Amino acid sequence: STTVYYDDDADVSTLEDETVAVLGYGSQGHAHALNLHESGVDVVVGLREDSSSRAEATEAGLRVETPDVAAAEADRVVMLVPDTIQPAVYEAIEDGLEAGDTLQFAHGFNIHYGQIEPAEGVDVTMVAPKSPGHLVRRTYERGEGTPGLIAIYQDATGDAKAESLAYAKAIGCTRAGVIETTFQEEVETDLFGEQAVLCGGVTEMVKVGFETLVDAGYAPEMAYFECLNELKLIVDLMYEGGHMGMWNSVSDTAEYGGLTRGEEVIDREGMERILEEVQNGEFAREWITENQTNRPSYKQYRDAEQSHQIEEVGGELRKLFAWGDDEQAAEEAPADD
Ligand code: NDP
Ligand code: MG
Ligand code: MG
Repeated sequence: STTVYYDDDADVSTLEDETVAVLGYGSQGHAHALNLHESGVDVVVGLREDSSSRAEATEAGLRVETPDVAAAEADRVVMLVPDTIQPAVYEAIEDGLEAGDTLQFAHGFNIHYGQIEPAEGVDVTMVAPKSPGHLVRRTYERGEGTPGLIAIYQDATGDAKAESLAYAKAIGCTRAGVIETTFQEEVETDLFGEQAVLCGGVTEMVKVGFETLVDAGYAPEMAYFECLNELKLIVDLMYEGGHMGMWNSVSDTAEYGGLTRGEEVIDREGMERILEEVQNGEFAREWITENQTNRPSYKQYRDAEQSHQIEEVGGELRKLFAWGDDEQAAEEAPADD
């Protein structure tokens, strides 16, 4: 079975001679920088001159430099700007990476698909909280943590794993548990998951369910409650107790209907095609081209999504009803982006 690393498996003092440059101060960046700082690690934040986050980082007691200056000074450079921006930022900081330095990521896209190609003498690693940055910060402040992944792509120094675990401890992840993976596995499972199940799959299922009811003449408000709002309650049950926990909580009618009809909704071959395009790099090439050409299809899809009836109906209903003010919903709401 998989080894899970906890606090006792890591030693933050492994990083005591290092300066860590955290590039970016967004969702992950602010959480890493603040948690590292409070764990006693020497941190410098890398932000462009006109960055809107400069004041916030400075007020939090952190030192801020431009990315190239921060990287030149640092022994560990952590890429926490958006993935699509990373290749350009890498060009600006590349000269600051000496042999023996570490280039660290929180997602493997640019390394796995060859958009960033670090020199041989540099350690290339990943420490990736499996959580939005706001929770990485909030749980740390409470003495808790979020689960995380580490991965080693290039280990020039031989210290890459011990240092990755130390970093994971300094940001709080080993309080919850850390497992080791590879860049390839992290990227491919992450992209597949967000496309087929989490983001793409679930929204499409909700949308087509909503449309099917509305097209058949049912009230859009009823369709919204049934297909979107109730989804959270079902997912909460699955999160707590797996599929059986959910099946045990719903009525026998819901269970029988669900068990016999669910399969018809899912296109298994479609899922396999999605995975193939992730594995063979077709999706990555498409997304890189999209970004190089000012995102024409992205904008079209986004506009269509925004003008869908379910957005209008949901917007109205969420104003009229009181719900979702439980602790969990409050934690999940992005605080700063
Ligand atoms: P964000 O979108 O929150 O990053 C925004 C930060 O990047 C801002 O500080 C912004 O500063 C800076 N930035 C943007 N453009 C540039 C630029 N051209 N030069 C310098 N800085 C720039 O990123 P995330 O935290 O979402 O993602 C960071 C990494 O973490 C990614 O690899 C992502 O895949 C990974 N990850 C993210 C998770 C999440 O919860 N969001 C979860 C797990 C991994 P400015 O004010 O200058 O715009
Ligand atoms: Mg350096
Ligand atoms: Mg992802």
